[in-house]
Amino acid sequence: MDATDTIRSTDGGAESRRFEADVSRLLHLMVHSVYSDRDVFLRELIANAADACEKLRTLSLQDGSLLGDDPRLRITVEADKEARTLTVADNGIGMSREEMHEALGTIARSGTKAFLEQLGEKADGSRLIGQFGVGFYSAFMVADRVEVVSRRAGADTAWCWSSDGLGTYTVEARPLEDAPARGTRVILHLSEDGASYAESWTVERIVKAHGSAVPVPIEFVEAGGEAKTLADGTALWTRPKSSITPEEHKAFYQSLGGQFDDPAMTLHWRAEGRHEYAVLAYVPSTPPFALFDPMRKGRLKLYVRRMFIADDIDILPGYLRFVCGIVDSADLPLNLSRETIQESPILGAIRKGVTNRILSDLEKLAETDPGTYTKVWEAFGAVLKEGLYEDFERRDALYKLARFSTSTHPGGARSLKDYIEALRPNQTAIWYLVGDDKDRLAASPHLEGFRARGIEVLLLSDPVDAFWVNAAMGFEGKPFKSVTQGSADIDLVPPLGEDAAAPRAEVDAKAATLLVFFKETLEGHVADVRASTRLSDSACCLVAGEGGPDRGLERLLAASGRASDPAKPILEINAGLPLVRRLAERFAGGGDRAALADAAHLFLDQARAAEGLPPLDPAASARRLNALLAQSLG
Ligand code: ADP
Ligand code: MG
Repeated sequence: MDATDTIRSTDGGAESRRFEADVSRLLHLMVHSVYSDRDVFLRELIANAADACEKLRTLSLQDGSLLGDDPRLRITVEADKEARTLTVADNGIGMSREEMHEALGTIARSGTKAFLEQLGEKADGSRLIGQFGVGFYSAFMVADRVEVVSRRAGADTAWCWSSDGLGTYTVEARPLEDAPARGTRVILHLSEDGASYAESWTVERIVKAHGSAVPVPIEFVEAGGEAKTLADGTALWTRPKSSITPEEHKAFYQSLGGQFDDPAMTLHWRAEGRHEYAVLAYVPSTPPFALFDPMRKGRLKLYVRRMFIADDIDILPGYLRFVCGIVDSADLPLNLSRETIQESPILGAIRKGVTNRILSDLEKLAETDPGTYTKVWEAFGAVLKEGLYEDFERRDALYKLARFSTSTHPGGARSLKDYIEALRPNQTAIWYLVGDDKDRLAASPHLEGFRARGIEVLLLSDPVDAFWVNAAMGFEGKPFKSVTQGSADIDLVPPLGEDAAAPRAEVDAKAATLLVFFKETLEGHVADVRASTRLSDSACCLVAGEGGPDRGLERLLAASGRASDPAKPILEINAGLPLVRRLAERFAGGGDRAALADAAHLFLDQARAAEGLPPLDPAASARRLNALLAQSLG
């Protein structure tokens, strides 16, 4: 922070600084918040106190003297109705003066940054508060003034941070006799309409609801009264599965940070045998913020025998980054460096075991509760699909989890197994269509011939689809094939319905010569012009050659600047269409070549339009259309 931010500073005395701009904005929001679930502030303060205790517990493994003569880490919540204050105290790590400036004057927290980004220019973010953990500053939802008195473990100075949340804060030295022997006291001077948070029953209710999620005991003191224990600090995951209520799970899940919904799925198990560890993890029901941020990592916190070690160790593969929770290992040594942990074979075994188990639990959920599973897939399918090209070892497991929208089931929830069960006679491939817009995919002319034959086509509209499907080897012996690529060998699949005439690749001699003429006319723009098996109502479509990338993938590569030299597409014409037959007649009868050449260009332009592409030459295209209109009017 530079000197201009310091408003008043005297040697050893009080120093006032302006909050970082983002903090001011956040505070303004907190102070003016009309958010109804203001209880969250207490959860945030308790979570901070618990973090501080866990940090000290971990540090004390190296330096036992840090605990001094007070080894029992705990959180104390004190309510004083007379004074209208609420205090959350801990005997954890505490903060130095610099740490106070850093932690309580700026926004270091990624969740809060995310909150502000989401907020954008909107003035009222009160609805968003419930969806993000906004941390310490949420205290200003209920307090006019907040004091934080802290003494860092092992330090011989104590400091007091205080602010009314209106732009500046002050940090000053605090005599040791007025400070905790170690740790932090956060004192809220409650505002008039926050006064109920000095009522013991209100505070007890909130603490009880969230306390069982906190791995540190919590005591409650009413001014002048005795301390009573509200939560014993038993780590939730060490308790028998059947003794944990859904409310406790929800509270724990939310205490993990970042999620404020109900978990869609709870995973809780203990691995025994060669490696022993416990896992308590959750699949959220709504996507967490920045799910597609490439920097986003898995979110399992690592504990060793109930000691918090780190929350940034890679335990889950990237495609499970939406899962949050903890892993508590019984085997890892406590004093390893982060690097050594990352490379430890024990962690390797945990990674493998946890990943496999999550996939198999998801599969079980799909069987036992398809409704919930469908929701999970809708929220996280696009992420899980990354595993299809990143994790070959588990591809089969991931195939079982994948769900699709298809041409016959546009509502989604189709599995590959369903697809295989619905194969049509003589169907040799799993057909798919890639694009970025689900509705446009469903309306694509490429699907018509497939529809006429009752062949189901997977409609793939997630950005990752083009990549995995391109690398996919096939499922149950059937290769994946794009309906926009190569010749669609579906001639042998019988049409649905008795008299439905499905388009066929063979054409009569007249149509064949017209197609040759079209090809010559469009030379340089297309690699070939041929009759289509794909089309039944539309006149034409573009497809990719057999060898090259699928049309959808090509567009994606082009958009990301990775396409070298896009291959020329093939224009397929519906030779069975009366319009095309009449054009063929006219051509055979020596009709006007210029008008027929215009028709060739207009076919190409409409095939491009169906893919959302502009005409090759918009001005020429308009001229051709108008000429045609003029002609048809006589
Ligand atoms: P977060 O907890 O996600 O980091 P907060 O806004 O809740 O974000 O807190 C900001 C920072 O303030 C914490 O990271 C921590 O460094 C510091 N802090 C807050 N409360 C305490 C406390 N009771 N003891 C020690 N440090 C604390
Ligand atoms: Mg916090």
